[in-house]
Amino acid sequence: MTLDALHPNMQAQYEIVLERNPGEPEFHQAVYEVMLSLTPIAGKRPEYTQWSVLKRMCEPERQIIFRVPWVTDDGEVRINRGFRVEFNSVLGPYKGGLRFHPSVNLSIIKFLGFEQVYKNALTGMPIGGGKGGSDFDPKGRSDAEIMRFCQSFMTELYRHIGEYTDVPAGDIGVGGRELGYLFGQYKRIANRYESGVITGKGLAWGGSQVRTEATGYGTAFFAQRMLAERGQSLEGKRVVVSGSGNVALYAVEKVHQLGGTVVACSDSNGFVVDEAGLDIALLKEIKEVRRGRLSDYAAERGGSVRHITDGSIWEVPCQVALPCATQNELPEAAALALIRGGVELVAEGANMPSTPEAINVFDDAGVLFAPGKASNAGGVATSALEMQQNASRDSWTFEATEARLETIMASIHDRCIETAAEFGAPGNYVVGANLTAYIKVADAMVALGVI
Ligand code: NDP
Repeated sequence: MTLDALHPNMQAQYEIVLERNPGEPEFHQAVYEVMLSLTPIAGKRPEYTQWSVLKRMCEPERQIIFRVPWVTDDGEVRINRGFRVEFNSVLGPYKGGLRFHPSVNLSIIKFLGFEQVYKNALTGMPIGGGKGGSDFDPKGRSDAEIMRFCQSFMTELYRHIGEYTDVPAGDIGVGGRELGYLFGQYKRIANRYESGVITGKGLAWGGSQVRTEATGYGTAFFAQRMLAERGQSLEGKRVVVSGSGNVALYAVEKVHQLGGTVVACSDSNGFVVDEAGLDIALLKEIKEVRRGRLSDYAAERGGSVRHITDGSIWEVPCQVALPCATQNELPEAAALALIRGGVELVAEGANMPSTPEAINVFDDAGVLFAPGKASNAGGVATSALEMQQNASRDSWTFEATEARLETIMASIHDRCIETAAEFGAPGNYVVGANLTAYIKVADAMVALGVI
């Protein structure tokens, strides 16, 4: 990430971001990536840059940090920190997930919120961008502890959210169980059955079909569309998916349905290699039902399955790689390993899993690369479909919702391709995604004036 790579007009703006947000490397990285893509309009298209649009885009509309006290099963008082960064609401209410992970800090929530603004714009739905979470570690906690934590978290968060204001969902460490406790506490405090205040809800209490599957399915649909553009498909492709959480599991499932074979996935303790193709039913049972580990998968699947704890999943040869775990999990060395292993396409299911250096390596080698804000937008798009169903007191079938998701992913893909071509970077999904989204948000910010 060098200043020299940015257009001179962007360098000064980026230096302001560095100065105003010290000690926030993830946020700097997310802003840098977008600024790098703005080169084709920098200094040339004043209609997209008037009224300090970019400067305002880099400053969240509101940042909330709060104390989350809770009591363990042993009666000990614990204090965590809660965050909600309401980044940009020019296109609609703030929308974005909550992450519970010990690594969470303001930099991570700001990078995720910043990315979310662009991702949400790409979906074509009327939603702004925000993100939140806590440095709470749900691993090893009992259900009762998770519930008390969620209730305490919502006891502060409720005053900042609402179906027309800010609509959270899940992310790392926040799935159906946590969203249930969060929604329950909101309902109790607000004394309103306001379904549209949270998405990712259970089907019995206002959730949408396909929301659980949406991010992973959407990533696979996006990869399929990238291949189709080149007259290929996932059929017969050897695929590696990192992570084994919500996004990863459903990326694996959809790749298999589309005829590819996923031979490896990971968690924070290591990865498994299963040359016959991952057994998705067993994987889901271990991860979703039992909340177990990949070591359990290796033990129960048996055969030649290997569980490796001292290497990188990116060394497993594959044609398609879908990073679906966390930010910066795919650095330059991993990109080089993937290329040695024959990778042809990388589509991000996680947010910012590839470092800028890794993306350069893919570019130089001609590897097709899709940034998360485009390829993982299926999750938030389906959240917006959930909001539509809540608003109309309706619920759609699985098939109808999945068909909508597939259409949305195809249209995001096609818009990225068209914009990249229009601005002189044919086939570059990073430029296509960032410019499509930037222009949409910038136009609305100019229209609404300096607010
Ligand atoms: P989950 O908590 O369900 O799963 C996360 C997975 O990634 C787990 O396998 C976890 O392993 C692994 N992981 C997490 N942190 C690390 C780390 N620091 N090092 C190595 N592995 C790690 O989260 P999701 O699947 O929901 O989210 C995954 C990614 O997708 C995130 O980047 C998220 O922001 C992004 N995303 C999620 C969406 C959604 O709808 N859920 C929407 C769009 C993007 P372990 O269990 O060992 O911690």
